[in-house]
Amino acid sequence: MINKKSREELKLMRHAGGVVALVHKAMKEAVTAGISTFELDEIASRVIKENKCTPTFLGYNGFPGCICTSINDEVVHGIPSKDRILKEGDIVSIDVGATYRGLVGDSAWTYPVGKISEEYEKLLKITELALFNGIDKMRPDNVLDDISGAVEDTALGAASNIPKELQGKKYGIVRQYGGHGVGRNMHEDPFLFNYRVKNNTKIKAGYVIAIEPMINLGVDEVVVSAVDNWCVSTADNKASAHFEHTVAATDDGPLILTALE
Ligand code: MG
Ligand code: MG
Repeated sequence: MINKKSREELKLMRHAGGVVALVHKAMKEAVTAGISTFELDEIASRVIKENKCTPTFLGYNGFPGCICTSINDEVVHGIPSKDRILKEGDIVSIDVGATYRGLVGDSAWTYPVGKISEEYEKLLKITELALFNGIDKMRPDNVLDDISGAVEDTALGAASNIPKELQGKKYGIVRQYGGHGVGRNMHEDPFLFNYRVKNNTKIKAGYVIAIEPMINLGVDEVVVSAVDNWCVSTADNKASAHFEHTVAATDDGPLILTALE
């Protein structure tokens, strides 16, 4: 069942989301060659706690970090570690959740480490565009498949607003993971695919969904690490990007709850 959020709940989620945005602001500054993903986790933890929130991910199904840090071919759920040092030319996806008075904000961004290849740059741009094309469909009386279709079209080069320099390539779309309702729990109904599945569930004002395209340079397929049982990587070891916002549908249009306040 998809639950509608009250005005009061949306206010609290806006606060949680604003803190998530502050973490991303700190991550953007901190991501440089030579820093470990453990150090990034420490910074995120500090920002979340200084702002009277709790790190949603820490302890979730036993997850050991406040953020997920997934480098290059890693898609999602990478565990922060002192042994994982960022290098010039890497890309790192950082996923953050913060809980404020029981309500959750969830947002991910992929950051370049120094100068990255043109191929990586385009992957980041197309995935960010897929997110915003999806967000634009988060309106009452649209259906869930409108969001999924907008993401799919962007990844496959079929969206009408793809800039010229990004045209002409079809990207892989991660199938096993996707967006989700969010509120008093990090993962609520509905599950949101990043490609069309003929889901004609109508979007209503008060629905909140974390929209999160995961787009690959190569194939769609991904594998879960046999070492830690968390980290998800692409099956062909080509790079992947992940952009996510928590978004409310309102009568005035989509409202991004994880933007800076
Ligand atoms: Mg997330
Ligand atoms: Mg999420």
